[in-house]
Amino acid sequence: MLLDEQSANAKSVVGVMGLSTRKGDKVRIEAAGEDAEQALAELTQLLLDRCGEAEDEAPAAPAPIAAAAQQQESAELLVGVGASPGLAIGRVYHHRLQEFDVPEFGQGASLEQQHFARATEEAAQQIDAVKSQLTDKAKQAILSMHQELLQDPDLLAQTYAGLADGKSAAWSWRAAFSSYSARLEAQDNALLRERASDIRDVGRRVLALLAGIKQASLDVPAGSILIAEDLTPSDTAALDPKKVLGFCTRTGGATSHVAILARSLGIPAICGISQAALALPDSEQVIIDGGRGTLRIAPNAEQLATAEAEIAQIAERRAAEAAMSQREARTSDGVRIEVVANIRNAADAREAVAMGAEGVGLLRSEFLFDNRDTPPSEQEQAEEYCAVARALGTERPLVVRTLDVGGDKPLSYLPLPKEDNPFLGLRGIRVSLERPDLLRTQLRAILQAAPLTRLHIMFPMVASLDELRAAKAVLAEEQAASGRQDVKVGIMVEVPSAAVMAARFAPEVDFFSIGTNDLTQYVLAMDRGHPQLAKQADALHPAVLAMIAMTCDGARAHGKWVGICGGLASDERAAPLLVGMGVTELSVSTPALAAVKATLSRWSAAECRTLAQQALALSTASEVREHLNAQAR
Ligand code: PEP
Ligand code: MG
Repeated sequence: MLLDEQSANAKSVVGVMGLSTRKGDKVRIEAAGEDAEQALAELTQLLLDRCGEAEDEAPAAPAPIAAAAQQQESAELLVGVGASPGLAIGRVYHHRLQEFDVPEFGQGASLEQQHFARATEEAAQQIDAVKSQLTDKAKQAILSMHQELLQDPDLLAQTYAGLADGKSAAWSWRAAFSSYSARLEAQDNALLRERASDIRDVGRRVLALLAGIKQASLDVPAGSILIAEDLTPSDTAALDPKKVLGFCTRTGGATSHVAILARSLGIPAICGISQAALALPDSEQVIIDGGRGTLRIAPNAEQLATAEAEIAQIAERRAAEAAMSQREARTSDGVRIEVVANIRNAADAREAVAMGAEGVGLLRSEFLFDNRDTPPSEQEQAEEYCAVARALGTERPLVVRTLDVGGDKPLSYLPLPKEDNPFLGLRGIRVSLERPDLLRTQLRAILQAAPLTRLHIMFPMVASLDELRAAKAVLAEEQAASGRQDVKVGIMVEVPSAAVMAARFAPEVDFFSIGTNDLTQYVLAMDRGHPQLAKQADALHPAVLAMIAMTCDGARAHGKWVGICGGLASDERAAPLLVGMGVTELSVSTPALAAVKATLSRWSAAECRTLAQQALALSTASEVREHLNAQAR
């Protein structure tokens, strides 16, 4: 790969990052050998896909961060970048990285190489062990990236060069990862600077193993605000949010993995805090405001009282919502709405039920097919579907969506033809109908869960009745073979044709579930992942709302129910609007369960209908949004 004078080995993550390319830069990719053509195609696609870096992982609300920029730093108020919102009062606890004493010279290249191989292998196992404890995909992805760094050819080449020079494995490895992390640290690209901490994290893990030192775990006293030069992503993944109320780091920024993890833990965090934070006395009282990016030192009585009042207000609302989270969701006049969860696996199902899910409205089964070299067998799939069903029990509904890949969701072992418009190509049910072997195996596995729960099977991306009928024919054969007739069948409404034709689909399905993420992209002709169009691709656009209303009308005429499983369902302000249009099931992300249920309890069915009529009469998404904000309860 060449860039002006710079080049890097494309197989090396650290090498490629070291190029510090910017958006819009031109790069030339060169490949040689038998598989050169395939390598070129894959690399090009990888670059076009931003190397898997999600664009949306920065905090959703930049407003408080902008407010922080206006805050004047003083001895009493340290300012950084708000990386995870929230407010907490706690006591300073410094986390300092352990120093390793490393001998320069080793016991010969071959012995040192063996030490090194053992240490990297053990480090990979340690990371695997941490990964297996996690259910959060974001955290797992970070640790997978760490495992990749352990095999990075540039890092390894530099280490082996040290060994050949007679240096110890620890010395050579430290020199290698330190030079790469320092190089990234010096870049003017914030994202790359932040990736330096991933290299240091992996580097120190291996170094500790080589030095025979057990890395001190983060045993933090309760009520702490952790302050550190840097927190490694593994440290952050191991934090106990019951003890750590928030943290500040000198390094990092809003897009760092540390910040992403803080948001998933739901605790306030500030990155890029000023140096003075590192000199604060241990146990000093502080107020961390992750939204504004400020750390108040030794607050006075009035400041404490204000912060306490704000914390109490937020906690009160959350507690009231949590207290109601196990109740059936109803409007204020008692109309029943099912609030269920979107999940990926059995662990998610258990968590969702604990947080008040009344069932599962979308099991994204493709996660079972992801990150592997071969498709999962019928038995493997059945085990997971049955585990989900058991977590829900026989009273709660489970909606399993059949494999939804293609477009933005490729599978390595399912090579789909290269398409100019993959979002308009082989996606969802179209892939399953192309590969009936996969569909059959999956349906057989899903049907095994029928006796354990209220089972629903849902086909994604259906655009025509022909597709639905073809899929239902396969299902009918598998049902006949298994004797399992007790299953409801529905479709996702994600393609405008399905919404427009809802009244004609309705006699042939038991239910509809609207996927507002894709429906928005297809109604507005805006790629759902397009960075410049993201703000305009708003599911509250009146045209999308009209499609939802059309689906509800078509379903109602045949006595079928309509749910929403797209992102719009998790927006508590939109919940009464959707119910007012005729939706009776909202399938939301687990953290949104309590708030959506609580919001519904504040609206009567008649008020929801009025809100829907008002919103449907508006002309733009921002008008709808403003109206919902103004009416929010
Ligand atoms: C949707 O499109 O709204 C949906 C729920 O499906 P996914 O986001 O998995 O494509
Ligand atoms: Mg979809």
